[in-house]
Amino acid sequence: MKAHIVGGGFGGLAAAVLLVRNAGISGPDITIYEAGDVLGGGLYLQGTAQRGYNLPGSVFDREFRCAFDLLAGIPAAKTPAMSVTDEFFAFNDAEPFDDRGRIVDRDGRLVAHDPRFGLTLGDFLRLARVALTPEAWLAGRRIDAFFPEAFFASEFWLLWSTLMGSLPQHGAVEFRRYLNRFLYLFPNLSDMTHILRTPYCQKQAFVEPMAAWLHPLGVNVLTGAVVTDLAFAPATERITVVGLEVERAGAAYPIAVAPEDLVLVTTGSQAACMSVGSMTEAPKPPGGGAAALWRRLAERRAGFGNPDVWFAADKAADSRWVAFTVTTTGTDFQDSLARLTGSKSGSGGLVTLRDAPWVPSVTVFHNPEVLGQPQDATVWWGYGLYPDRPGGHVRKAMTECAGAEILEEVVRQFGFDGRLAAIMRTSTCVPCCLPFVNNIWLPRKGGDRPAVVPEGSSNLGLIGQYVETPRDIAFTIEYSARTAWEAIHRLTGRGPAPPPVYQSQLDPKALLAALGVILGR
Ligand SMILES: Cc1cc2nc3c(=O)[nH]c(=O)nc-3n(C[C@H](O)[C@H](O)[C@H](O)COP(=O)(O)OP(=O)(O)OC[C@H]3O[C@@H](n4cnc5c(N)ncnc54)[C@H](O)[C@@H]3O)c2cc1C
Repeated sequence: MKAHIVGGGFGGLAAAVLLVRNAGISGPDITIYEAGDVLGGGLYLQGTAQRGYNLPGSVFDREFRCAFDLLAGIPAAKTPAMSVTDEFFAFNDAEPFDDRGRIVDRDGRLVAHDPRFGLTLGDFLRLARVALTPEAWLAGRRIDAFFPEAFFASEFWLLWSTLMGSLPQHGAVEFRRYLNRFLYLFPNLSDMTHILRTPYCQKQAFVEPMAAWLHPLGVNVLTGAVVTDLAFAPATERITVVGLEVERAGAAYPIAVAPEDLVLVTTGSQAACMSVGSMTEAPKPPGGGAAALWRRLAERRAGFGNPDVWFAADKAADSRWVAFTVTTTGTDFQDSLARLTGSKSGSGGLVTLRDAPWVPSVTVFHNPEVLGQPQDATVWWGYGLYPDRPGGHVRKAMTECAGAEILEEVVRQFGFDGRLAAIMRTSTCVPCCLPFVNNIWLPRKGGDRPAVVPEGSSNLGLIGQYVETPRDIAFTIEYSARTAWEAIHRLTGRGPAPPPVYQSQLDPKALLAALGVILGR
């Protein structure tokens, strides 16, 4: 049996690891086709300390059961005597978030935390209603259909939306899943206890170790290889892939697939059409072509879902973020932020500028964020939840701003004007526009996401953030790992089934903790 994996992000790499570990397929029989020049997809690391890095922030919890299970067998990049999983938890035990100031107001002052997060009893009842309503009844509905306007001005919503990414117009189905999965976080939403992070950037902490583990096993990795189409056997009621169309370096290569071979396709990427700017240039308007293979499949066959729900051009307005990565040799910003929040630099989680038009959130990473970065460099990161609004000082949409403009706006919104010149002199801010990053939150109906194993499929599995597996939440490496695990288990019948999704609404400790919030304790 050979296996063809389309996409070399976390999901594709997880699939390769699981094919070896759970299904006993030998490395040379596995091929990963990755459209980009490098592996990693949404877990990218670009640039240098001199030109400025570009990388994503990181948010996890202990219950990424599939991901941490498979990473438990992979040596870590920095400490190869430990597994990636052990290194991850050892780091988080030693360096937990100590977020003492989470929200900052228009005057640059910390906003005091309300034990009830500004929620009324009615809000708690409405949250419970969404969490308890069967998913099918929420299909296609928006979050704001269930809550009054005041709810969206509460501390709870600001903390939640800046941590998880959801907006009022987003879908109630995913919101329900997040509520049930993360109920146990409620009492600590403001200090980020229980939120975990990678010890260094996600590309080096997760992607490179998996690639390094697969390499000596002889797994074939083809970068710059775009799978443009799949060929199917003519039978109508069965789905059997018999070929791949691959484009590489301007040439087309048909690849034959035997009926007993496996094909695992990543249907979409949150980082699709990502566009990166510089200190002096805004990111160029993103190009099109997102999820092209998925579109081709969905156009031709029923049961492949509806890619337009996430990737139609007009969806970007509700799913776009502008993220920015600041690489600095100075300490002015970090020192000012530490003084303001009371959190030691590198130990605090997100800090959100509540009243700034872009509602930016920032976090100073633990040093070093990039293995091998110069000793005098520090990296911090941020993103704007509302990047289409004009800024307060730089009167442009964040999407149109160069890195220097974003940096100035954020520094001044914090009220660090006195340090502005020093910060600008010692920092490089790289802006990055991600038009579809937040699209996993868009309202959806049953059938919009295809099944992990489409009905009638004999050798095709679909993996990643845009396929349907019950209960679990997207915007997570866990979702990609789980869908890969499930596809392999169901198509080969080998290895254990994936562990169940953690559901905190069934955990008495989590329920008790949530009750404490309602009572204002
Ligand atoms: C900015 C950002 C921050 C994030 N932060 C977190 C976080 O903190 N915690 C977390 O758990 N998750 C986070 N995520 C979610 C993250 O995207 C996923 O966890 C993970 O990267 C998904 O892996 P994937 O392989 O499914 O998709 P991707 O990582 O998007 O990879 C898909 C890959 O498939 C390739 N591809 C697609 N189509 C084809 C084709 N036809 N032919 C060949 N190759 C193809 C793409 O080029 C891409 O490299 C973040 C995502 C982003 C964008």
